[in-house]
Formats: sequence, structure tokens, C-alpha cells
Amino acid sequence: MDLITRENPARVAEIVGSVPVTDPAAVDAAVRRADDAFRGWSGLPVAERVAALRRGADTVAARLEELAPLLARESGKPLADSRGEIGFAVAFLRWVCDEAPAVLAATEVDDDAGRLVVRRKPYGVVGCVTPWNAPVILAMLKLGPALAAGNTAVLKPSPLAPLTITEVAAALPAVQVIHGGAETGRALAGHPLVRKVAFTGGDAAGREIAATAGAMITPAVLELGGNDPAVFLPDFALSDADYERLVMASFATAGQVCMAAKRLYVPRARTAEFTEAYLAAAERVLVVGDPLDPEVTMGPVISAAAAARIRALVADAAGGTATPLGRSAPGHDPASGYFVTPHLVTGLDDHAPLVAQEQFGPAVPLLAYDTEEEVLVRADAGELGLAASVWSADEERAFALAERLGAGFVFVNTHNRTGMSLRAPFGGVKRSGYGREYGREGLLEYVQSAVVHVPAAFRPGGPGMAPGAYPGGLHDEPPRSAGAVRPPP
Ligand code: NAD
Repeated sequence: MDLITRENPARVAEIVGSVPVTDPAAVDAAVRRADDAFRGWSGLPVAERVAALRRGADTVAARLEELAPLLARESGKPLADSRGEIGFAVAFLRWVCDEAPAVLAATEVDDDAGRLVVRRKPYGVVGCVTPWNAPVILAMLKLGPALAAGNTAVLKPSPLAPLTITEVAAALPAVQVIHGGAETGRALAGHPLVRKVAFTGGDAAGREIAATAGAMITPAVLELGGNDPAVFLPDFALSDADYERLVMASFATAGQVCMAAKRLYVPRARTAEFTEAYLAAAERVLVVGDPLDPEVTMGPVISAAAAARIRALVADAAGGTATPLGRSAPGHDPASGYFVTPHLVTGLDDHAPLVAQEQFGPAVPLLAYDTEEEVLVRADAGELGLAASVWSADEERAFALAERLGAGFVFVNTHNRTGMSLRAPFGGVKRSGYGREYGREGLLEYVQSAVVHVPAAFRPGGPGMAPGAYPGGLHDEPPRSAGAVRPPP
């Protein structure tokens, strides 16, 4: 049996664990098991499903201190962030449990136009394909709503961080976990018994997943990449703590976050002041080293290939000036793993690869601008539109610009995870994907409306088809439901 063996990206000689690759026959068997389980799970009252999910949340919460170091060791995410990610996944699942009964409730109208029931029905088996950068929360954003709504799920996590999420998923009901790379993801997304695909990842895989699901007429939710601009209006007023939060908005998880602040647009007249304060804040809060060291706020990137790609982006920043940021933890040996020195890069034009592409690593460009209209156009350039931020001392002014930006989520006076809300739908515009996670919309992704309707005309004792009713012709007054005729008093 083939194994996926995961090394610690901070100490590459250390093997953290391994999982077996699921072969195509076993993918098929997992989907069939999930399909078999669907009737029973979806037939439970929502209160029972939610109670089972709450028990799962409690199990994961009780194992937090054991799971957080595992996540840190397989992903390179600092221990506090690993703890935060798992804790947030538990909080999200509990939030789903609180909201699901009301959001999923059927609506019923019974009046003189007839009786109409609209139910929120689960799809069946949901196939989830997830990335490595936040393997627990990004899976939970799919599993929690899908399961609460009565679907069963098959999850394929990334082979680069499969260990912690496998433990977390084992605490939940109605989930099968399979392992492998693109081939396994393809087999899952294209399986005829998968009724909905939920994907988070990059552009190339997203296109392929969308095509694979589309070929089966399977609907999909796609959460893809971003190249988020952070726009500082001329009146921005940042405290030291704001600068520190901003630095971490770009460098948390070594910049490998879909909604990291990836381009900083600063008014030309204030770039010197901004740069000085930014470098000082980075010196205070950006500490590079082993993720298990409690002082460390930035670990390695995920792989040798990612490290080489990001170093090349910085080295190729022709015409720009790359300034190293932050400091190393005492005793840190950068050669032990996939460490990349974080950089702020100034003096680039908007066509430089570091500006025009999603860098997904610890290097951020600072770009000067002159007018608000100009920065709006530059911030919106490109094919991606995941998140953005506007920073201003005047909240109204910030909201006014935010509403004009082409992004699915605009933060004001913060960026990245410090701006998230469980109740706020998150997802991209343009080629950052479609569908939403979080919030009421995130739950509704996993249900379809199914209707039962009897027009009043055809209820026992009703008048039957009226002469003017559809398809016969026009009414003087539009009916309240097609074919419905007010019954005689
Ligand atoms: P990736 O696209 O390489 O892989 C994501 C998942 O898809 C993995 O499980 C992988 O094995 C699988 N996969 C890869 N190719 C596939 C194919 N052809 N068919 C089926 N499955 C396939 O992404 P990654 O490197 O793991 O993650 C980085 C990307 O994810 C970045 O672009 C980032 O911005 C994006 N991302 C988006 C969000 C969001 O919410 N919008 C969140 C996190 C990450």
C-alpha cells in the first residue's frame, strides 16, 4: 500500500506521520458507504444531528493541546496559531449547531392561494477537497454545514497536511476521509454518487475540479486564491498595535493565507513614515523560527518548492528594493527546514510578478499611489477578487471606498483573520471562486429548495380550473400562485 509520509517543514529530517493513499476502488467504496449512510443521517431530526455534531466539537476541544502541536509540526504553523485554528474550527462548528435549526427550517404558507411547503433538503454525498494552509478550519467550513444539513461527506485533505484533520474528522459523524493527491481529488469530484463538491485551493486545481464536477452536472462551491490589496487612505492613522496587526495580516502562516494582505497601497506623501513604522512593528512581532517555540510567530513555508518559488519572486523584483523583516528566534537554524526570510519590497510597478500574482508566501510589495480614483483601479486590477481592506481614520470614507472595490469581503482598519466573523459570508468574486462559506449563506450552500404545493383550486372542495387560469389566458389580477383561484366564500 502506498503511503503519504509527511516531514516537518521546520526540521525536514523529522517524519511527523503518514497516511495510506486511497486507491480508486477504495475511493469508490468510501463514496458508496457515504451514500448508504445518507438516508439514515438525513432522516434524523436536525436537533439529533446537531447534538451529535456538538459531541464531536467537545471531543476535538478536549484534544486541543494534543492536536495543536501535531498541526504545528505537519504544517509549519506556529503553535499559538495552530491552537487558534483548531479552537476556531470548534467555535465555528458550535455556531453552525446554534444556527442550523432556524436556517434549515421549512417554510409553510397555507392561505387562500393554496398550501406551499418549501423544504431545505440536503444533496446527498458532499465531496470535499481541501488545501494544506489551514487544513482544519477549511475542512470544517465544509463538514459542519454539510453534516448539519443532513448530507454525508467524503473529505480528501491535502497530502501536505493530512494528519490533524484526519484526527478531527474522526470525531464527527457521517464523514469518510480518503487520502491522495490530484488523482484522488479527481476521482472524488467526478464520482457519480457525489451530489455536491466543496473545494478550496488554487486556480489550476479549481478549474479542473469545476470541469470534473461540471461534466457530471454536480454543483460546486469553489474557494480559490486571492491577491488582496490593502488600501491606506490619505488620512490613515495607525497606532503601533495597528501596524503590528498589519504585519501579521501579511506574514501569519508565512504569508500562505488566501486572504493575507498581499499588496499595500500607501499615499505617496506618506510612504516614508509608513515604511519606518512598518519595519519597526515587524521587528517587534515577526519572529522566525521553529513553530513549537512559543516566541515564534512565523515558521517555514510548506515545501522546498514553495521556498524556491518565493525566493525567486523576491530575487526577480527588478527595480525594487527588498528589505528583510523581523528577526530570528534565538538559536534558530534556517537551514533546518523550508525557511524563507520575510521581505517588504518597495519601488515595484504593478506588472512585477510579486504584485500581479498571488505570492502565497512571506514577501509583500508596498506601492505608492497619488489619487483615490487611481488606487481603486490599481487595487481592482487582475483576475482575483477575494478580500481587500481599506484603512482610514474616517469610517464613512473607508466604507464608501470599500463598497466600490471588486472583492467578496472588504475589511475596514484590519485585514485577514482579525477581520473575520462567523456570521459574515466569505468568498470571492471574479476568478477567486463562487459560493460562500461562513454565515447563513455558508449553510444554505448545502441544501436545495424542494417544494410541495397544492393550489387552492385543487384542494378538496375547491372550484377546479378557472376559465382564465393558466394556460388559458390573462387574468385581470395576477394570481398569488400559478393556477390558484380564490375558492368561493
Ligand atoms: P491546490 O489547489 O494545489 O490543492 C488543493 C487541494 O486540491 C489538495 O487537496 C490537492 O491534493 C487537490 N488537487 C490538486 N489538483 C487537483 C485536481 N486536478 N483535481 C482534484 N484535486 C486536486 O492548493 P494548495 O496549494 O493546497 O493551496 C493553496 C491555494 O489555495 C492558494 O491559491 C490559496 O489562495 C487557496 N486558498 C483559498 C482559500 C479561500 O477560502 N478562498 C483558503 C485557503 C487557500
